[in-house]
Amino acid sequence: MIELLDNKEMSARDLSQTLSIREKEVYTHLSHIARSVTAQKKKLMIIPAECLECGFVFEQRKRFTRPSRCPHCKSEHIQNPVYRIE
Ligand SMILES: [Zn+2]
Repeated sequence: MIELLDNKEMSARDLSQTLSIREKEVYTHLSHIARSVTAQKKKLMIIPAECLECGFVFEQRKRFTRPSRCPHCKSEHIQNPVYRIE
């Protein structure tokens, strides 16, 4: 998974499809990756989820999972966050 994310943005869904694992497992892997890339002086970047209705960006969100609903306009139309290692 580290190679997949190396300078390339992928969402949890992309990763689960590419690796044939469940999306839930992707999040588990991501938290391990976040630690292991630090040792290689790299960083797991999280490009935050964004509300497609009002443009609200979920920047405060530290967890890897996807928010289910916008706190601003209550829309459930949320773009998935994407991840990249650089
Ligand atoms: Zn919104």
